[in-house]
Amino acid sequence: MQVLETIDALRTVRQLIGGKIGLVPTMGYLHAGHMSLVDFARQENDSVIATIFVNPTQFAHGEDLASYPRDLPRDLGLLESAGVDYVFIPTSEMMYPQGYQTYVNVEDVSQGLEGAQRDGHFRGVATVVSKLFNLTQPDIAYFGQKDAQQVVVIRHLTRDLNFPVEIAVCPILREEDGLAMSSRNVYLSPVERESATVLYNAMQAIGQVYGTGERNAKLLRAIGEDMIDADPLAQRNYVSLADPATLDELDILIENRPVLLSVAAKVGRPRLLDNCLLPLSLNNRDDVSQILGVR
Ligand code: AMP
Repeated sequence: MQVLETIDALRTVRQLIGGKIGLVPTMGYLHAGHMSLVDFARQENDSVIATIFVNPTQFAHGEDLASYPRDLPRDLGLLESAGVDYVFIPTSEMMYPQGYQTYVNVEDVSQGLEGAQRDGHFRGVATVVSKLFNLTQPDIAYFGQKDAQQVVVIRHLTRDLNFPVEIAVCPILREEDGLAMSSRNVYLSPVERESATVLYNAMQAIGQVYGTGERNAKLLRAIGEDMIDADPLAQRNYVSLADPATLDELDILIENRPVLLSVAAKVGRPRLLDNCLLPLSLNNRDDVSQILGVR
């Protein structure tokens, strides 16, 4: 595995490699969820480029940029064992040199959910992903369903700016008790870690009632809201039932039309996110890839 520390080094390598190229962008502090993206990329491409970059422009003021967990030696070991060919690890100064002033803004789908909670977050995501696409010129780029709104934003930007890149969406990897794996889970104290399962449990409860035929969105949301509110360590941000392509919040759920259920809550220090498609049977790679984002 070759570690590329500069834009020039990446460009030189990129000019030399042919065949199908898979890109896995990450912010590091890798866990099995990230590695599942790497595994799909390894299976489906001739070369795999992973990137580790804690992108400052996607952190809103007051967020955890400085304290975001980092462990580069461990990450490099994991990527090497998984058969990654190249890892690009730029610095902020390389990606955003003095005088930097160009940003990508995907308008409507960046507004709700995380966009409403994190000012400028998706502008930062869309900008860095555009830069990484230009630099690495991949055939397929791999993203996790874990950040479902991010997938929708990136699918839009890819189509709207004519990037010749296929966006692959990979299912959410979970701990045994259902908690979605996340680099930020490391912030949870043991009691908070127990409370953190409330997000998954709330989604499952909504999914089960949805499965009995209930289509009243207000009632379904209230099931999740009440469960999260009943946990003394969890501070609810939102329980959302939205159209999985437009992310518009839904009042009425139409039979046979999939819905994206998203939940966000602060548990102790970290804000935790989770989501699933309803009906619950759709949470597999094929269905998620087809349903999430631009149709
Ligand atoms: P991050 O390092 O948090 O920016 O994540 C890098 C990529 O890994 C993103 O596309 C995430 O959606 C994806 N990812 C994060 N957590 C998980 C998970 N639990 N399962 C699958 N993919 C994930």
